[in-house]
Amino acid sequence: MRLVLLGAPGSGKGTQAARLKAVLGVPHISTGDMLRAAVAAGTAMGLKAKAVMEAGQLVSDDILLGMLEERLAQDDAKAGFILDGYPRNLVQADALDHLLAKIGQPLDAVIKLEVPNTAIIGRCEIRFEAEGRADDNPDTVRKRLAIYAEQTAPVDDFYARLGTLQADDGGGELDGATSRRRQAPPSA
Ligand code: ADP
Repeated sequence: MRLVLLGAPGSGKGTQAARLKAVLGVPHISTGDMLRAAVAAGTAMGLKAKAVMEAGQLVSDDILLGMLEERLAQDDAKAGFILDGYPRNLVQADALDHLLAKIGQPLDAVIKLEVPNTAIIGRCEIRFEAEGRADDNPDTVRKRLAIYAEQTAPVDDFYARLGTLQADDGGGELDGATSRRRQAPPSA
Protein backbone atom coordinates (compact mmCIF):
# COMPACT_ATOMS: atom_id res chain seq x y z
CA MET A 1 0.00 0.00 0.00
CA ARG A 2 1.40 3.38 -1.05
CA LEU A 3 -0.25 6.29 0.70
CA VAL A 4 0.26 10.02 0.99
CA LEU A 5 -1.16 11.83 4.04
CA LEU A 6 -2.02 15.47 3.50
CA GLY A 7 -3.07 17.97 6.14
CA ALA A 8 -2.03 21.18 7.80
CA PRO A 9 0.74 21.33 10.42
CA GLY A 10 -0.65 19.76 13.58
CA SER A 11 -3.49 17.98 11.77
CA GLY A 12 -2.23 14.66 13.10
CA LYS A 13 -0.48 13.24 10.02
CA GLY A 14 2.39 11.87 12.07
CA THR A 15 0.12 10.28 14.64
CA GLN A 16 -2.12 8.66 12.04
CA ALA A 17 0.87 7.52 10.01
CA ALA A 18 2.43 5.80 13.00
CA ARG A 19 -0.81 3.94 13.65
CA LEU A 20 -1.35 3.05 9.98
CA LYS A 21 2.18 1.71 9.85
CA ALA A 22 1.29 -0.87 12.51
CA VAL A 23 -1.86 -1.88 10.62
CA LEU A 24 -0.45 -1.90 7.08
CA GLY A 25 3.08 -3.08 7.81
CA VAL A 26 4.77 -0.49 5.60
CA PRO A 27 7.23 2.20 6.71
CA HIS A 28 6.18 5.67 7.82
CA ILE A 29 8.29 8.15 5.87
CA SER A 30 8.11 11.61 7.44
CA THR A 31 10.15 14.26 5.66
CA GLY A 32 9.91 16.44 8.79
CA ASP A 33 11.38 13.63 10.93
CA MET A 34 14.13 13.02 8.37
CA LEU A 35 15.03 16.71 8.33
CA ARG A 36 14.99 16.91 12.14
CA ALA A 37 17.30 13.87 12.24
CA ALA A 38 19.67 15.61 9.79
CA VAL A 39 19.61 18.75 11.96
CA ALA A 40 20.31 16.70 15.11
CA ALA A 41 23.15 14.83 13.36
CA GLY A 42 24.63 18.13 12.19
CA THR A 43 24.97 17.00 8.55
CA ALA A 44 25.61 19.61 5.84
CA MET A 45 21.99 19.29 4.78
CA GLY A 46 20.82 19.62 8.38
CA LEU A 47 22.81 22.80 8.81
CA LYS A 48 21.16 24.28 5.73
CA ALA A 49 17.68 23.19 6.80
CA LYS A 50 17.80 24.27 10.46
CA ALA A 51 17.14 27.99 10.16
CA VAL A 52 14.57 27.50 7.42
CA MET A 53 12.62 25.03 9.57
CA GLU A 54 12.81 27.19 12.67
CA ALA A 55 11.35 30.07 10.68
CA GLY A 56 8.46 27.83 9.61
CA GLN A 57 9.45 28.07 5.93
CA LEU A 58 9.79 25.25 3.42
CA VAL A 59 13.18 23.64 2.85
CA SER A 60 14.26 23.65 -0.82
CA ASP A 61 12.56 21.31 -3.26
CA ASP A 62 15.92 19.94 -4.46
CA ILE A 63 16.99 18.86 -0.99
CA LEU A 64 13.65 17.21 -0.36
CA LEU A 65 13.54 15.32 -3.64
CA GLY A 66 17.07 13.96 -3.22
CA MET A 67 16.29 12.87 0.33
CA LEU A 68 13.06 11.19 -0.69
CA GLU A 69 14.53 9.41 -3.68
CA GLU A 70 17.22 7.90 -1.46
CA ARG A 71 14.68 6.85 1.16
CA LEU A 72 12.32 5.20 -1.34
CA ALA A 73 15.22 3.21 -2.78
CA GLN A 74 15.70 1.45 0.56
CA ASP A 75 14.49 -2.14 0.82
CA ASP A 76 11.71 -1.61 3.34
CA ALA A 77 9.95 0.84 1.01
CA LYS A 78 9.59 -1.75 -1.74
CA ALA A 79 6.45 -3.12 -0.07
CA GLY A 80 4.90 0.34 0.13
CA PHE A 81 5.00 3.40 2.36
CA ILE A 82 3.02 6.03 4.19
CA LEU A 83 4.36 9.40 3.14
CA ASP A 84 3.87 12.21 5.66
CA GLY A 85 4.95 15.80 4.94
CA TYR A 86 5.59 15.41 1.21
CA PRO A 87 4.49 16.79 -1.21
CA ARG A 88 4.12 20.30 0.23
CA ASN A 89 3.74 22.28 -2.97
CA LEU A 90 2.85 21.67 -6.62
CA VAL A 91 6.48 21.34 -7.72
CA GLN A 92 6.93 18.53 -5.19
CA ALA A 93 3.64 16.87 -6.21
CA ASP A 94 4.82 16.80 -9.79
CA ALA A 95 8.28 15.56 -8.80
CA LEU A 96 6.74 12.75 -6.73
CA ASP A 97 4.53 11.74 -9.62
CA HIS A 98 7.56 11.45 -11.90
CA LEU A 99 9.68 9.68 -9.31
CA LEU A 100 6.99 7.07 -8.59
CA ALA A 101 6.38 6.51 -12.30
CA LYS A 102 10.12 6.03 -12.78
CA ILE A 103 10.32 3.38 -10.05
CA GLY A 104 7.01 1.79 -11.08
CA GLN A 105 5.29 2.45 -7.73
CA PRO A 106 2.21 4.63 -8.28
CA LEU A 107 0.18 5.85 -5.29
CA ASP A 108 -2.85 3.87 -4.13
CA ALA A 109 -4.43 6.78 -2.27
CA VAL A 110 -3.99 10.26 -0.90
CA ILE A 111 -5.74 10.94 2.39
CA LYS A 112 -6.45 14.48 3.52
CA LEU A 113 -6.90 15.07 7.26
CA GLU A 114 -9.33 17.93 7.74
CA VAL A 115 -8.90 19.85 11.00
CA PRO A 116 -10.04 23.43 11.67
CA ASN A 117 -7.28 26.01 12.24
CA THR A 118 -8.52 26.79 15.75
CA ALA A 119 -7.97 23.16 16.78
CA ILE A 120 -4.56 23.13 15.06
CA ILE A 121 -3.32 26.18 16.94
CA GLY A 122 -4.36 24.52 20.22
CA ARG A 123 -2.69 21.21 19.32
CA CYS A 124 0.58 22.92 18.37
CA GLU A 125 0.59 24.86 21.63
CA ILE A 126 0.31 21.58 23.52
CA ARG A 127 3.06 20.04 21.36
CA PHE A 128 5.26 23.11 21.94
CA GLU A 129 4.96 22.65 25.69
CA ALA A 130 5.49 18.88 25.49
CA GLU A 131 8.22 18.55 22.85
CA GLY A 132 9.72 22.02 22.62
CA ARG A 133 9.80 22.09 18.81
CA ALA A 134 10.89 25.65 18.00
CA ASP A 135 8.52 25.85 15.02
CA ASP A 136 5.51 25.06 17.24
CA ASN A 137 5.62 28.46 18.96
CA PRO A 138 2.31 30.24 18.23
CA ASP A 139 3.79 32.92 15.91
CA THR A 140 5.61 30.36 13.78
CA VAL A 141 2.54 28.10 13.68
CA ARG A 142 0.55 31.00 12.21
CA LYS A 143 3.28 31.46 9.59
CA ARG A 144 3.26 27.73 8.79
CA LEU A 145 -0.52 27.79 8.41
CA ALA A 146 -0.25 30.72 5.97
CA ILE A 147 2.38 28.88 3.91
CA TYR A 148 0.19 25.79 4.03
CA ALA A 149 -2.82 27.71 2.69
CA GLU A 150 -0.78 29.35 -0.03
CA GLN A 151 1.49 26.51 -1.19
CA THR A 152 0.25 23.16 0.13
CA ALA A 153 -3.53 23.45 -0.16
CA PRO A 154 -3.35 23.52 -4.00
CA VAL A 155 -1.86 20.01 -3.82
CA ASP A 156 -5.36 18.74 -2.87
CA ASP A 157 -6.65 19.71 -6.30
CA PHE A 158 -3.70 18.06 -7.97
CA TYR A 159 -4.74 14.71 -6.44
CA ALA A 160 -8.47 15.37 -6.75
CA ARG A 161 -7.94 15.67 -10.50
CA LEU A 162 -6.03 12.38 -10.54
CA GLY A 163 -8.90 10.79 -8.58
CA THR A 164 -6.69 9.64 -5.69
CA LEU A 165 -7.84 12.13 -3.01
CA GLN A 166 -9.96 11.05 -0.02
CA ALA A 167 -10.96 13.34 2.82
CA ASP A 168 -10.95 12.21 6.44
CA ASP A 169 -12.07 13.96 9.57
CA GLY A 170 -8.86 14.36 11.51
CA GLY A 171 -10.69 16.09 14.32
CA GLY A 172 -12.46 13.07 15.80
CA GLU A 173 -11.28 10.33 18.07
CA LEU A 174 -7.73 9.20 17.47
CA ASP A 175 -8.88 5.67 16.71
CA GLY A 176 -11.54 6.83 14.28
CA ALA A 177 -9.38 7.75 11.34
CA THR A 178 -7.12 4.72 11.74
CA SER A 179 -9.97 2.21 11.93
CA ARG A 180 -11.84 3.81 9.04
CA ARG A 181 -8.70 3.26 7.01
CA ARG A 182 -8.46 -0.34 8.17
CA GLN A 183 -12.11 -1.16 7.43
CA ALA A 184 -12.13 0.46 4.03
CA PRO A 185 -8.69 0.19 2.52
CA PRO A 186 -8.50 2.73 -0.26
CA SER A 187 -8.51 1.18 -3.70
CA ALA A 188 -6.26 2.24 -6.54
P1 ADP B 1 4.16 19.71 10.28
O1 ADP B 1 3.40 18.78 9.41
O2 ADP B 1 3.67 19.73 11.68
O3 ADP B 1 4.34 21.07 9.68
P2 ADP B 1 6.70 18.39 9.63
O4 ADP B 1 7.41 17.59 10.64
O5 ADP B 1 6.05 17.67 8.49
O6 ADP B 1 5.65 19.24 10.46
O7 ADP B 1 7.69 19.49 8.99
C1 ADP B 1 8.45 20.36 9.79
C2 ADP B 1 9.23 21.32 8.91
O8 ADP B 1 10.14 20.59 8.07
C3 ADP B 1 8.40 22.15 7.92
O9 ADP B 1 7.85 23.30 8.49
C4 ADP B 1 9.46 22.47 6.85
O10 ADP B 1 10.32 23.49 7.27
C5 ADP B 1 10.25 21.18 6.78
N1 ADP B 1 9.69 20.25 5.77
C6 ADP B 1 9.15 19.02 6.01
N2 ADP B 1 8.73 18.45 4.87
C7 ADP B 1 9.01 19.35 3.88
C8 ADP B 1 8.80 19.36 2.48
N3 ADP B 1 8.20 18.36 1.85
N4 ADP B 1 9.22 20.46 1.79
C9 ADP B 1 9.82 21.49 2.39
N5 ADP B 1 10.03 21.55 3.71
C10 ADP B 1 9.64 20.49 4.47
